Amino acid sequence: MYSVDEALERILRHFAPLPTEHVRLEEAFGRVLAQPIHATHDLPPFPNSALDGYAVRAADVATASSESPVRLPVIGDIPAGSFPQAPLRAGTAMRIMTGAPLPEGADAVVPVEQTDDAPSRFALNSPLPESVLVRAAVPSGNGVRPVGEDVRAGALVLSAGRRLRAADVGILAGLGMAHVPVVRRPVVAILSTGDELLPPHVPLAKGKIHDMNGVALCASVQELGCVPRFLGIASDSVEAVYGRLQAAADCDVIISTAGVSVGALDVVKEAITRRGTLSLWRVNIRPGKPLAFGDFGGVPFFGLPGNPVSALVTFDVFVRPALLKLLGIAHSDVPQATAEVAEPMNSDGRRTYARVKLQRAADGRLLAFSTGTQSSGAISSLVNADGLLIIPESMTEVPVGTRLPVRLFNQVL
Ligand code: AMP
Ligand code: MG
Repeated sequence: MYSVDEALERILRHFAPLPTEHVRLEEAFGRVLAQPIHATHDLPPFPNSALDGYAVRAADVATASSESPVRLPVIGDIPAGSFPQAPLRAGTAMRIMTGAPLPEGADAVVPVEQTDDAPSRFALNSPLPESVLVRAAVPSGNGVRPVGEDVRAGALVLSAGRRLRAADVGILAGLGMAHVPVVRRPVVAILSTGDELLPPHVPLAKGKIHDMNGVALCASVQELGCVPRFLGIASDSVEAVYGRLQAAADCDVIISTAGVSVGALDVVKEAITRRGTLSLWRVNIRPGKPLAFGDFGGVPFFGLPGNPVSALVTFDVFVRPALLKLLGIAHSDVPQATAEVAEPMNSDGRRTYARVKLQRAADGRLLAFSTGTQSSGAISSLVNADGLLIIPESMTEVPVGTRLPVRLFNQVL
C-alpha cells in the first residue's frame, strides 16, 4: 500500500508543463504565465504631476506663506496627454494637470488649493490666468511622480508560473503588451461509469441514481483553469467504456470514476489496457483507498472511486497537483489553516480527509466540527464543509483540542 505522499510523487513523475501559446491580453486573465515578464520601459515613462496645480521651481516659492504669498507669471498650460513645448524658466509657473509631463526645469508642483486659483476653474481648456499667487512653500519633488517610480525598465515584473490576476493584466497593459505568453490549457476528459447512472436531466427510474461525478469533476477541472471534456456515462461494459474513451485520444488527461473497487475493476481495466496500461493502487487514504493510474494511448489516466466524496477528495489530492504541474505551477499551494478539533473524531489509521465546518472562537482559535455523516457516499458532507481536516496516518483517536491542518474551501474570517 502506498502512502498519500508516495502515490502523489509517483503520479507527478508523469507530468511536465505544457507548451507555451500567445493569447491576446484581454484573454490572459486567469491564465498561467509561461515566461517571466521584464519591463520593456519605465513606468511611468516620463516624470509627471501627481496632482492638479502649478509646476514651479521649489526654490522660487521657498518663502511663500499665506501671509506673504509669491506671485509668479503663468507661461504655459500642460493638460494630460500634451507635452510641454518649452522648459520652465526661473521665476515662472505652468498650469499642470494630474498625469501631465513635468516641464524641464520644474522640480515641484504646487497644489491648486495652495494658490489663488480655484479647483472649480481648473478644467480642461479653461482660460489661463496671467499669474498665480502661491500661498505655501513646497519641497523639491512635491507632487511629482519620477520616471520609473512604479517600474524600472528591465525589472522583473511577473514570474513564470504566475496565475494572472486583475492587477497583473493591468501592469502588462501599462507596459504595452498586447499578447501574453501563457501555458496551454490542459484538456481533461471525464468519464462516468456505472449501469445505475442517469444524466441529471433524465427522470429517476427504479434502481437508478443521477450522475453527480461528471458535472462535479468538470467543475473541478474548470476551477483550475483547465478545459473539461465530458465523455458522458458509460455502462459497465468493456465496449461501452472503450468506445467513450476514443474521444479522449487528444486530451492531456483522462479521468474516470467508479469501477475501481477490486471486484468491479475488470471493465475499466480491460478497456484501458486495450490501448494502454493500468495499475490499481491501494493508497492509505480515506475516503478513496482504491485508485487506478495508468495511460490510455499515452494519455495519463486516473481511475477515481465512484463515491462522490471519494471522487472529489482524490481529485483534490492527486489530480489537482498533476493539473497544476501541467500548467507550470510548481508549488501546489493549497489554502491551508490550522484548526482545533472541537468534538472528538476518529479514523481507521488511514490518512483521513474529514469534512468539517469551521468556526472562529471569540479568542481567535479556529474550531473544527464534523459536518455529520462522514460516509463517502454522502456528498452533503462536502457541500456543508468549509474544508477538509487532515488526520495524519495512524492517528485513530482525535481528542478535542487536537490541532490539525485544514485544507480550506472558503476564505476563513
Ligand atoms: P463503484 O466504484 O462502481 O463500486 O461505485 C461506488 C459507489 O459510487 C456506488 O454507490 C455507485 O452507485 C456510486 N457512484 C458511482 N459513480 C457515480 C456517479 N457518477 N455519481 C454518483 N454516484 C456514483
Ligand atoms: Mg459501479
